[in-house]
Order: sequence, then C-alpha cells, then structure tokens
Amino acid sequence: MNYFEEEVERYKRRIERIKANPSPTMLWSNVKFYELMLKHYQTMIEEWREGKPFCACADLAPYRLIKAMGIRPFSWEMQGDYLPRKLVPEYFRRVRATGFPDNGCDRVQATASILMATEKGEVPMPSCVVVTKADCNGLAEAIIWGGRQLRVPTYVIDCPLASDVPYEERWEALKYMEEQLYDMIGFLEKEVPGAKYDEAKLIEYLHGFRKVMEQHDRMREASKSKPCPLSGKDSFRMAPLDMIEEPELIEYYVMVADEMEEKSKAGRGASVREEKARVGFLCSAPFFIDGFQYLEECGVGVPIYEAGSGAIDFPRIDDESTWGRKLSPIELEGAYALADPWHGVWWHRWRAVRKFCQEVELDGLVHFELPGCETCNGSTKLIAKMAEKELGIANLEIEGWCHDQEKFNEAEYAEKMRDFAALLFERKKSKIKEDTR
Ligand code: SF4
Repeated sequence: MNYFEEEVERYKRRIERIKANPSPTMLWSNVKFYELMLKHYQTMIEEWREGKPFCACADLAPYRLIKAMGIRPFSWEMQGDYLPRKLVPEYFRRVRATGFPDNGCDRVQATASILMATEKGEVPMPSCVVVTKADCNGLAEAIIWGGRQLRVPTYVIDCPLASDVPYEERWEALKYMEEQLYDMIGFLEKEVPGAKYDEAKLIEYLHGFRKVMEQHDRMREASKSKPCPLSGKDSFRMAPLDMIEEPELIEYYVMVADEMEEKSKAGRGASVREEKARVGFLCSAPFFIDGFQYLEECGVGVPIYEAGSGAIDFPRIDDESTWGRKLSPIELEGAYALADPWHGVWWHRWRAVRKFCQEVELDGLVHFELPGCETCNGSTKLIAKMAEKELGIANLEIEGWCHDQEKFNEAEYAEKMRDFAALLFERKKSKIKEDTR
C-alpha cells in the first residue's frame, strides 16, 4: 500500500469512529472535513495512475495558479503535517540519515522527508517544484533541495521583504510578484507537458478562496462569544493550502461557521463550560496530543490559533477596499504572499496578532516555539513585549515539537499550562480589584 492508499484507509476508519462515537466537545462538521480528505486522496490516486502532472509545493506557493494550469499542487508541507504517527519514526530516520539535524523544527524535517517517500514510490514523483520564498526559510530550502535531488524543473518566487509599510501600499512589490508569476507560467508551460494557464479557472478558484475567507470572518465573529464555541483542537485546524478553494471545503467551512454561531447564540461552549480566561496559541502546537486540554480543564478557552482560526486577513477577489482598486487574478496571487503576517519584519506579524487579541479579547498568548524557527522565534520576544505593554496580555514561551513525541515530556508541559492558567486568573483578579478601587 502506498502512502495515499494508507491515508484513504485511515480516513475511512476515522469517519466510522466519529460517526459511531461523536465527541461532545469537537465540531460535528469534522466528519465533513475527513470525508473531503478521503475524497482528496482518492482523486490524487486516480490522477497519479493516469499520469497527471503533480507540482511539489511548500510555504506560500501560488496554489490556485498552479491548479489553473492543469497541474495538481501537492503540498509537501501539509503532507508532512498529516504524517500518521506510525510513519513518523521511519520518515524521520530517513531524513536524518541525510544529515538533517534532529533537534530543529520538525515540521521542516517532516516536509523534507517527503523527498525520500517520493524516491521510494510512496507518493507521486512531481513534474515540477514551485515555492515562494516568503515566511519560512526552512520549508522553502527543503523543497528546493527536493527539486534538485529529483532533478525536476524548479521555480522559486522571491517575495520581496515586507517592511513596516502596510503591504497594501506596496505597489512596487506587487508588480515584482506579478512579473515573476507571469514568468513562472511561461516556465511551467514550457517544462511540464500539457500545462496551460486558464484564467477563467483561476478566477473560479479565487472566488472559492474568497468564500472560505468569508466563513473565517463568521468564525472569528462567533469566537468573540464566551464561553468559546470552538475547542482548542478545532481552532488549531489549518486550512489545507493546496485545496482551499474546493467546493466541498467551502461547504465544510459553512458548516463550521453555522455550528459555531448556533453554539454562540445558545451560550454553549465547546470544551469549556465556564470560561475564566482565554488565550491564543502562536507558532504551533504538538500534533500527537491534545495540547490545549490542560488549559481547557482549568477553564481557559482557546479561540485562536495564529495560522488556523486566526488567519483571515488575506486579499480577496473583487475587494477594492484594501488596495483601492480591484486586483487582477495574477496580482491577487502575488498579494496573497505579500499579505502573509509571518513574512518580513516582526511588525507585520504583530499587526495581525494585535488585531485578533483585541477582537476576541484574549488574556494570554502561548508561544509554542519550534527550535530553530527563524520565522517565529525571531519575533516572539518582541511580540510578547508589545502584547504585555500595549494590551496587558500575559505570555508563555514554551519550546516543543509538532511530531517528535520521543522528546516530549507531557507532565512538564501540563504543569506549565496549569501554572499559566493560574497566572491568568491571578491577573484577572488583580485587575478587577484595581478597577473597583
Ligand atoms: S515552525 Fe518555523 S521553521 Fe518550522 S515550519 Fe513553521 S515557520 Fe518554518
């Protein structure tokens, strides 16, 4: 059985399990998500058999544009995230045997390990590689390395440095992105047999992306209600980057927003009945346990994960309010990378964090940092300082891994979370005292 076939079986089992025994705290709409993933892998298996071209991607590749060229974007990054527990030791062993250090960000290690899976025929051999060098240098380098090892045409898009000038005022940067994307179209049409850019398709996908973002708006609005109508585990769910605009995914997000609104109207929380404080998770969280439960058990809600439920501010088709005019479809694909809060100077990220801290009234931020992450670790201290100074928000900085369970000390992690919950309650009490003086 290849990796995709294993995924099909895994999702079948998961769907059956949830239908037989639904979780009282998780969203029911998760079943829809798993059905979508099941279908996604079945479609990819068929396309693989038919010899359709795949493009290996990571980070902020122009996924919709690649798809509009008749090529299946396959995010090694997302595939790395979905790595089943039983495959992790073997995939990590393989990538570390190439010299990858075992003590750095393990999302990057998981992404790079898909290269070995490709060589072994466990996943499709890509016809090309495309990556936008934007927020995560490690992921971008891993995928470029993959392209070089596999000797397939590789296109790297250079996303210009974001400064403290709001991205929507950076026309020069946008034009630079647009130029490269047109060049990439020419490159792929020449290098990948059958690839042909279809603008009508791109427009259709951009409308799909807009619909997903609109559901995120509804979810953000519903997250304001207390107790939190979303469990931490559900807020952590990140939209699959290489299929975000697909009709079933839109339906799934509509269901999520409906469920959250319903709970919010009824005043029902997901994992926390009586919410005493609420926090946002930044950077990442462990994939192998419910990393939010220790806070939730104390009465702390987790309505926001930075790159999951917190990620809504991406440019949308037909929107004139951000740039002052509608952007062309290709400009929009370029603007998407420029808008990424993790790209460029730390201030860019702080703007996005400050916004959700204020909107959903967070009391604390948990910075779950992966060792070696230039993107987040470089800005954590600055963001924590600003959150404390400007908003009076408490911060917990904690180091950990996404996949590497062997290095994880759950008892220590739980203690840190409980101590942080206690600190939040203490601060809230002192604030109430001060306010009533
Ligand atoms: S945690 Fe940092 S280094 Fe790791 S994948 Fe994310 S952005 Fe990249």
